[in-house]
Amino acid sequence: MPQPILRLALPSPLRRLFDYRAPAGVPHAALLPGVRLRVPFGRREVIGILVELADSSPVADDKLRPALELLDTRPPLPAALFRLCLWTAQYYQHSLGDTLSWALPVLLRQGEPAEARQERFWHLAEGAHLDDPRLARAPRQRDALKAIAQHTHGLAHGLLGKLQLNKDSLDLLLAKGLVRVETRRSHTHAAHQGSWLLQPELTLNGEQRAAFEAIRAGLGSFRPFLLAGVTGSGKTEVYLQLIHQVLKAGKQALILIPEINLGPQTLARFEKRFNARIALLHSNINDRERLDAWLAARDGEADIIIGTRSALFTPLKNPGLIILDEEHDASYKQQEGLRYHARDLAVVRARQENLPILLGSATPSLESLHNAHAGRYALLKLTQRAGGAQPPRFLRLDIKSRPLDSGISGPLQQAMAQTLSAGQQVLVFLNRRGFAPSLLCHDCGWLSQCQRCDARMTLHQRHNELRCHHCGYVERPPRNCPKCASVDLRPVGAGTERAEERLGILFPDFPVLRIDRDSTSRKGAMEQLFNTINRGEPCLLVGTQMLAKGHHFPRVTLVAILDADGGLFSADFRASERMAQLIVQVAGRAGRAEEAGKVIIQTHLADHPLLVQLTEQGYFAFAEQALSERRAAGLPPFSHLALLRAEAHKPGQAEVFLDQACEQAEALLQQLALTGIELLGPVPAPMERRAGRYRAQLLLQGSARAPLHRLLHAWLPGVEQLPGSRTVRWSLDIDPIDL
Ligand code: ADP
Ligand code: ZN
Ligand code: ZN
Repeated sequence: MPQPILRLALPSPLRRLFDYRAPAGVPHAALLPGVRLRVPFGRREVIGILVELADSSPVADDKLRPALELLDTRPPLPAALFRLCLWTAQYYQHSLGDTLSWALPVLLRQGEPAEARQERFWHLAEGAHLDDPRLARAPRQRDALKAIAQHTHGLAHGLLGKLQLNKDSLDLLLAKGLVRVETRRSHTHAAHQGSWLLQPELTLNGEQRAAFEAIRAGLGSFRPFLLAGVTGSGKTEVYLQLIHQVLKAGKQALILIPEINLGPQTLARFEKRFNARIALLHSNINDRERLDAWLAARDGEADIIIGTRSALFTPLKNPGLIILDEEHDASYKQQEGLRYHARDLAVVRARQENLPILLGSATPSLESLHNAHAGRYALLKLTQRAGGAQPPRFLRLDIKSRPLDSGISGPLQQAMAQTLSAGQQVLVFLNRRGFAPSLLCHDCGWLSQCQRCDARMTLHQRHNELRCHHCGYVERPPRNCPKCASVDLRPVGAGTERAEERLGILFPDFPVLRIDRDSTSRKGAMEQLFNTINRGEPCLLVGTQMLAKGHHFPRVTLVAILDADGGLFSADFRASERMAQLIVQVAGRAGRAEEAGKVIIQTHLADHPLLVQLTEQGYFAFAEQALSERRAAGLPPFSHLALLRAEAHKPGQAEVFLDQACEQAEALLQQLALTGIELLGPVPAPMERRAGRYRAQLLLQGSARAPLHRLLHAWLPGVEQLPGSRTVRWSLDIDPIDL
């Protein structure tokens, strides 16, 4: 029988498979689709995944290289996940090899065995006891036996060194029949016994119960739910009770949360509630821990899997439910490489694996609301705060021609003083890190510009640095103006550092805590800050959107939003949606306990219809208004976008490449007779130069998804071949969220 040709997906951006001959000595039957093989690729060796076997190859026989080594006896990725990767690669027009390799934990990409680590465990043999006469003059063996007796689930071999026991004593005990050895998975936690609950469930209120019952009735088959519940309405309690149902049915629950939310707070709630094996997958675990968690989920050794965006690609042996919390959060969209949206893919996965999926948010994305209106998602609402807390009151504070002191107006100062003297806490939201967004020469107008970007350098006074928030470039602030040598250099605008400094001067009797990426980068810093806040003494919190996410600050009764105008002026059509979500989420931190909260929004556009609607009628009224504006303008979710981005070292190169790509696309539109698709651009990117590269983009907008994707599919192989494609760096972003 002739040797089959192996068609492999390799970790390469090229959108094709690669042919190899089978490795020497490997039987045909071992060549299962999905297994990993080590192969030569150019001058390197890489690990690929077998997609299919073929009888022949377009590659000449003498050019066909043999694979070097077969790494698996069974495919590491279960079929369901393989299918999800196929779908992902197709939809996002990404190479299958890259997608598969990306879906695997790093250690599996590097060739580690895809089975749980086995370890030896030492147990007491039946009938063995510590005062066995044979040990009377063998104190080391007695100590060893004692240590083993203390480990009811067995003493892991790997712990011997730490306990200062030596292997020889154990071998002697084994020879005497006093101990026995068991080899098993090293990371197993004892499987579940008894009740799944460690603490009683709360009694659901009417709305919670209705939502819970609706979703419970949907367990066992595909159905998407959108749980729109105001902040503090008890969404998490609904999740917890559903997870309990899933566990009782012997299935696993996958919970996705935004990056920042994976604080100890969220996790603690799950751990306190369940007597279950919880696997965690987020960015703060090492590669080994990730692989262990991944294997535990795949092999059914974890009951609850909690993770951030990429945890969506965790294989599950018995999936029962997917929950995606804060579904509006932008961190679900990956912004480089494989630019997938975990929310959209979660729905696809649920459909493929026939599961219910629950998307939850106080401020659902316009996309999801649109899907609910169209009947694709079942909409469940929680309109009341659980536990009787009052919704916050909003005040739009017009700051036109009012003097601002580091961004803080007089009336706001008074409100802060009142709150603090009443013994309560104030939260100040400002979405800008650093001291000031730029440094200005008062004499000649020079501005601290990044050398590598079309952007200002932010002044970070505490570290005495100018930093570019776009490329990471750092320099010392000059003492004299580089242009006119004047010493009159002034910070313009205010960031969190400046607000912190100023508030410290205005309210010297109260602590000011800053919460942003700079102040929380140290491990444990965030927890320390939260501990201080939770002590409940009056204080001021100043922070960026980090403050907006999921936290519970019972003593905060005043929320101040220093500047809401950015979201109303921006050229990005999603800016107003984001602003509304941020305002509502930040506001949701206020008055979550007994005292009602108040939210003061400083703005120059106090009469802006969207802002009025949001503050007077709430998020859903805003969302309806915003959706009807999107419909009128033909913007998503009423149309579909794809963005081809390019960047190059020389000005103009990216445009030339995009022009060529655009011509190809126009030709294809004709050839395939596709309608309803517009090509917009190429145009320079909103920030044309970044990190020393010149950037441009071409936007494709389609009134329907199918024709747009047909075009993309036909187009990309040609784009890959364009002469310019080697000098520019380019990428395609399907359903981009920032343009
Ligand atoms: P969300 O996830 O919607 O922000 P949470 O689930 O965190 O809301 O609930 C907010 C607060 O209300 C929490 O302290 C929670 O313990 C409490 N809570 C939730 N549901 C109930 C209920 N049915 N009865 C009493 N308290 C509840
Ligand atoms: Zn100057
Ligand atoms: Zn820069």
